Amino acid sequence: MATATRLYVTDDLGPGMPVEARADQAHYLRNVLRFKGGEVVHLFNGRDGEWRARVDALGKGRARFVVEEKRRDQRTSPDLWLLYAPIKRARHDFLIEKAVELGVSRLLPVLTGRTQVERVKEERLQANLIEAAEQCERLDIPALEAPLALDARLDGWPSNRRLILCAEAGAAPPIGEALAAARATPDPARPAWAVLTGPEGGFSDAELETLRHLPFVLPVGLGPRILRAETAAMTALAVWQSVLGDGGMRPPDRVE
Ligand code: SAH
Repeated sequence: MATATRLYVTDDLGPGMPVEARADQAHYLRNVLRFKGGEVVHLFNGRDGEWRARVDALGKGRARFVVEEKRRDQRTSPDLWLLYAPIKRARHDFLIEKAVELGVSRLLPVLTGRTQVERVKEERLQANLIEAAEQCERLDIPALEAPLALDARLDGWPSNRRLILCAEAGAAPPIGEALAAARATPDPARPAWAVLTGPEGGFSDAELETLRHLPFVLPVGLGPRILRAETAAMTALAVWQSVLGDGGMRPPDRVE
């Protein structure tokens, strides 16, 4: 079932409301999809659910939609953060796209001792994550934080959140068992969750030592193989969603 083009907008959405497209969206509709006007699109803004809208005016670098009716009620993704050490460009884009598809609510790049920091162009990452959210039919987009040193990120750690440490070294229970145990015996003081993966070079012994001693950190293993950072992030997020998140739900309009 081909679904209509989905576009993320920041405007409020309600019946009959006009919504101006961004210039890049107008270009995409006019020059890539060859829209002429009158076509249907689905709009979402992370607050008001998903609405059917019609392309009302289409010109050079501009497009306007008229919102018609609501298709889906707003549902925010589970409250799951991903802390990750930025990695090389193409793999970084891949990691962002997978994290969006796997429903993270917030992306927090952390700089560790062995992080190979490349100038990360925020607007490119933002465009990538919006495109991934449009494609995977999410109704919200994750927040993207600016990079921060790991110890600074840990200093201000929120008291209600546990941090799953993907530890490639040292003793650690398999993630599936660790999360199943957390589901069986939740920590009422820390209902929220986050995942942390390291850079290509891994965590330093000192970093792992520090992390292991923090009360909110849950070290886990992802099996006997050394996974690339993006594979590790994807694996941990998928297991979390399946055990503690929305992994049991079905995609919209395809439940039968
Ligand atoms: N190059 C390092 C590993 C870095 S892999 C080495 O050879 O040891 C990048 C990150 O992915 C790691 O920091 C860790 O967070 C995660 N990771 C990779 N494999 C893992 C595993 N088997 N168990 C837990 N975490 C893993």
